[in-house]
Amino acid sequence: MRETIDRLKEIVGPRGWITDPERLHGNLTEWRGTWVGKTPIMVSPTTTEEVSRILALCREARTAVVPQGGNTGLCGGAIPDVTGTQVLLSLSRMNRIRAVDAGDYSLVAEAGCVLADIQAAANACGRFFPLSLSSEGSCQIGGNLSTNAGGTNVLRYGTARDQVLGIEAVLPNGDVFRGLRSLRKDTAGYDLKHLFIGSEGTLGVITAASLRLYPRPENRQVALLALASAQQAVDLYADVRQRLADQLQAFELMSDRSLRHVCRHIPGSRLPLEGAHPWYVLVDSASPVDRIPFEERLMEVLESGLATDAVVTKNDAEQEQIWRLRHSISEAQKHEGASLKHDVSVPVGEVARFIAEAEAEVLRAIPGSRLVAFGHVGDGNVHFNVSQPKGMPADAFIAERERVAGIVYDVVEKYNGSFSAEHGVGVLKREALQRYRGDVEVGLMRTVKRVLDPDNLLNPGKVL
Ligand code: FAD
Repeated sequence: MRETIDRLKEIVGPRGWITDPERLHGNLTEWRGTWVGKTPIMVSPTTTEEVSRILALCREARTAVVPQGGNTGLCGGAIPDVTGTQVLLSLSRMNRIRAVDAGDYSLVAEAGCVLADIQAAANACGRFFPLSLSSEGSCQIGGNLSTNAGGTNVLRYGTARDQVLGIEAVLPNGDVFRGLRSLRKDTAGYDLKHLFIGSEGTLGVITAASLRLYPRPENRQVALLALASAQQAVDLYADVRQRLADQLQAFELMSDRSLRHVCRHIPGSRLPLEGAHPWYVLVDSASPVDRIPFEERLMEVLESGLATDAVVTKNDAEQEQIWRLRHSISEAQKHEGASLKHDVSVPVGEVARFIAEAEAEVLRAIPGSRLVAFGHVGDGNVHFNVSQPKGMPADAFIAERERVAGIVYDVVEKYNGSFSAEHGVGVLKREALQRYRGDVEVGLMRTVKRVLDPDNLLNPGKVL
């Protein structure tokens, strides 16, 4: 091991490695603190060539490697195990935007670029990069692609996968897959770039990506609507989508409890609607041209009885205030004690039935549990989070993690949904993958893994 570490240090140079456990604490701790790992060294290469040499060396030395981006993943995928033998490979120093082509509506970014920096680079050339998550100030595009991240704009633009024109990645043996094309059409054989997207660093290390840009949305309009039920949100979505067509950017469902938590714990937060309503929906609409009259359409919605109240923002500050409510839910929930989180998806039309049934099942198992449900209704994606009952010890509640997940995922399965909508599998949901995807699907995944990584050295123990 010592010789391998010395050779790794040589590859990345004096500024490219850290061995001091104290300095590595942040990199070795998952965002919520659920997993804490160990490593003999973290290497931070600056070029694809260095990544290639690192992987080739580690394969020769039979040493496992764990890729890490911004370490905002919520499933433990970027954390080495506790043996202290796995090398941590941080992409943070590979953070150059290699090219921006406004005319081609594309941009080439290295894997370690922070998502917000990519959005800013697109904006600076008059274009728009739509991927947007609450963690965008820290997460990196390599991590976003490896987890096939979703976020708030999937409804209009699709997930991270849909933004990719080309990929550069290093295979577990050190070979470089040079698929960094910016083509819209390319039917030359298997579309191999998709192997690296959503595979959570188990099949290769993404070093750069060519990404789609879009016309910059103008005439942005945001509204918060109050609803009597989650089913109304589902009905409202179908209606509003027709009325606003492609202008609809985001349609976010938030329960009353989730927003009350935000107002209680996040300074400066305020609900811009009077009275108490069981559910809220944030509607975000934008269009570069030919704006459909937003307020008029929402008035029609109110008159039709699908929503009980609504407020339309008048300026950027108000838009920001409403979006801040949505983005603060996870943070606010931390102040309410322990929580069990489930990032699931069901067909859009089943969202309300799923929430009602899963809540009833969880309450039957642990009376007093407090559901904090919110999500991207238009994507059928519900963050079905459960806060501990008041008075129940946090440890006892956390000990119920697997039982509660089983209850929630069984309801998801009943509705033909997915137990992992946008956060990935990591180590958290490995058993669920086996249980809900079955032998044939998981067997195929194992076959692909074996072919690319026969010694199981790249992010071992993650996903599979
Ligand atoms: P990391 O956490 O560092 O890594 C995630 C996985 O990708 C690991 O398996 C790692 O090994 C692998 N990986 C990282 N970089 C590479 C690379 N270059 N090559 C190969 N493998 C790599 N996710 C959503 O989808 N939607 C949301 O709305 C959302 N909101 C969030 C809000 C908050 C507050 C937080 C903390 C997280 C949220 N997430 C969300 C989860 C997380 O931000 C995403 O999964 C994100 O894509 C992870 O990116 P990262 O750079 O932090 O990756």
